[in-house]
Amino acid sequence: MTASQSALQGTTPGKPKLAFRPLPVPQVDARGFWGDRVDAVATRTAGILYDRCVEARMLEQIDPDRPSPGVVIPFHSPSPDEAATAGNEFTGSTVTTQMFWDSDWGKTIETAAYSLYRRRNDALEKKIDAVIDMYGKLQQPDGYLSSWYQRIQPGLRWTNLRDCHELYCAGHLIEGAVAYYQATGKRKLLDIMCRYADHIAETFGPEPGKKKGYCGHEEIELALVKLARVTGQQKYMDLAKYFIDQRGLEPHYFDEEARARGADPKAYHFKTYEYSQSHKPVREQDKVVGHAVRAMYLYSGMADIATEYGDDSLRVALDRLWDDLTTKNLYVTGGIGPSSHNEGFTADYDLPNETAYAETCASVGLVFWASRMLGMGPNARYADMMERALYNGSISGLSLDGSLFFYENPLESRGKHNRWKWHRCPCCPPNIGRMVASIGSYFYGLSDDALAVHLYGNSTARFDIAGTQIELTQASNYPWDGTVSIGVEPEAPTTFTLHLRLPAWCRKAALKVNGEAVDLDDVTSDGYAAIRREWHKGDQVELDLEMAVDRLYANPEVRQDIGRVALARGPLIYCVEETDNAGQLHRIALPRTANIEAHKQPNLLGGVVTLSALARKEAFESWDNGLYRTEPPAVEEAKVTAVPYFAWDNRDPGEMLVWLRDS
Ligand SMILES: [Zn+2]
Repeated sequence: MTASQSALQGTTPGKPKLAFRPLPVPQVDARGFWGDRVDAVATRTAGILYDRCVEARMLEQIDPDRPSPGVVIPFHSPSPDEAATAGNEFTGSTVTTQMFWDSDWGKTIETAAYSLYRRRNDALEKKIDAVIDMYGKLQQPDGYLSSWYQRIQPGLRWTNLRDCHELYCAGHLIEGAVAYYQATGKRKLLDIMCRYADHIAETFGPEPGKKKGYCGHEEIELALVKLARVTGQQKYMDLAKYFIDQRGLEPHYFDEEARARGADPKAYHFKTYEYSQSHKPVREQDKVVGHAVRAMYLYSGMADIATEYGDDSLRVALDRLWDDLTTKNLYVTGGIGPSSHNEGFTADYDLPNETAYAETCASVGLVFWASRMLGMGPNARYADMMERALYNGSISGLSLDGSLFFYENPLESRGKHNRWKWHRCPCCPPNIGRMVASIGSYFYGLSDDALAVHLYGNSTARFDIAGTQIELTQASNYPWDGTVSIGVEPEAPTTFTLHLRLPAWCRKAALKVNGEAVDLDDVTSDGYAAIRREWHKGDQVELDLEMAVDRLYANPEVRQDIGRVALARGPLIYCVEETDNAGQLHRIALPRTANIEAHKQPNLLGGVVTLSALARKEAFESWDNGLYRTEPPAVEEAKVTAVPYFAWDNRDPGEMLVWLRDS
């Protein structure tokens, strides 16, 4: 094991180990479905992210050897409050610069790092090294590091945590630093970010004289947890906990901060601190509110701290929030946050399809949160939702070839919602890039004497239990087929528990160990079958998950989905696209009696299973010129073909629909 690999184990001295830790990225080789996607990110997306950051002129903001774009090209330099109102965007004659560009670099570095695990790429590594060198030069002697506040708005550091993403940017650079260190063994960015984290710890905290603030966009919390785990420095963990504990306390920091800079706290663009989940202390929160990505990052940080400190008060709050999200505020695709106004939540059961915002980053954030809930132990309540967000509402944000992106992920389109190369707010591309490239870390949870299998798919994992090296190989065509063969190869006979998730979508499962059937009723709890035994070389587990086509109906409180049906098979949600169905998708009605067939299509969309059925459709020709008449329209039979939602808009642009009329 190399030094960088051992650092990946990431334990915190003096603290209880995580109940179940994810396996480090390089210890899981994904093949099949996820292997294709990781390859697309490693071969295309990672390089594209770098190139498009450069095209957006992000290097000019961070490189101290170049003139600052804010100095050379005159443009209006607004106050922080104006910046918030303007959506954090300043446009000059030729330059648009953003206060969160450091975060885009952080995520781009992180994506590149995970991609380097997959395949070496010296050219990309050199480019990233050069970016890191620029950050090294930019860092101030006291450790402070923000390209925005050093190059665009100097002299205003720590004056507007509410709006200006300062700690958020630090968090993403920390995550990038941890991943890059783990991938390459190079410490430079890690050291830079430790110095910055030290500066942050000197600036914020409970001690007299320190600021009592926290970031308006959560992220620093979960990043400091990663930094603590990789460095073994407890102070970073304690600072993460401080930011969590401090959030929403009165007197409200954002009020005091606004007054200190001469602004009226009430003149806040988003009106309510629900926007940043700082409307009340986190342990009192029971509704998912505000900006969806902010919410997911906060809950992820809370879950980390709950696990690290054994804090049940956080865990109780998280379970309330989980219930609220998953029973009232979640799209069937695992998308969240219906509104573009606050990029987030509105009211219970408000889940419009065509105007769904459902930001790619928000579904990625749900994956982060769910995976951290699994740190407290295997529980299909969280893993099923992680799987749904992974296979649907998150990877829909990345084209199959890894080159184009979605920001919003609606469940209905009239044909005008298409993938783009880049966005003025490019948060989503590197977020989906880093999630896909690190998919191996979501497959398993490892404790001292157990391995939980959260995700299925062709792959090989290597890990240690009680000092014994074990290789575990999954052979499976998942998610197209529910048969999973698991080979266990311990170096020496070893006793441990293998937890196998039994997804809620599966109504009939069968399990065999070395050919002998296991009674699932006897061994299943929280949606996982637990097999405890002494494992020997060549042991074989066969799991058969029946993968039927399901019709899904929404709670009738969801007005947009009433009288409608969605199709699912295994973890995948399906949609119909114009290119397969001749358009006019709103006319399609699927009879409850229709037989829905699944077809393997190895040459379609990189190899998918499609669903087809005989449906009904209002005949277009049957209507006269008028708008209304007393006779109902004629109806004709029409074959409908549905494809997995994640793969939509990878062919000819056109209409798309998830919720079909039910008849
Ligand atoms: Zn985004």
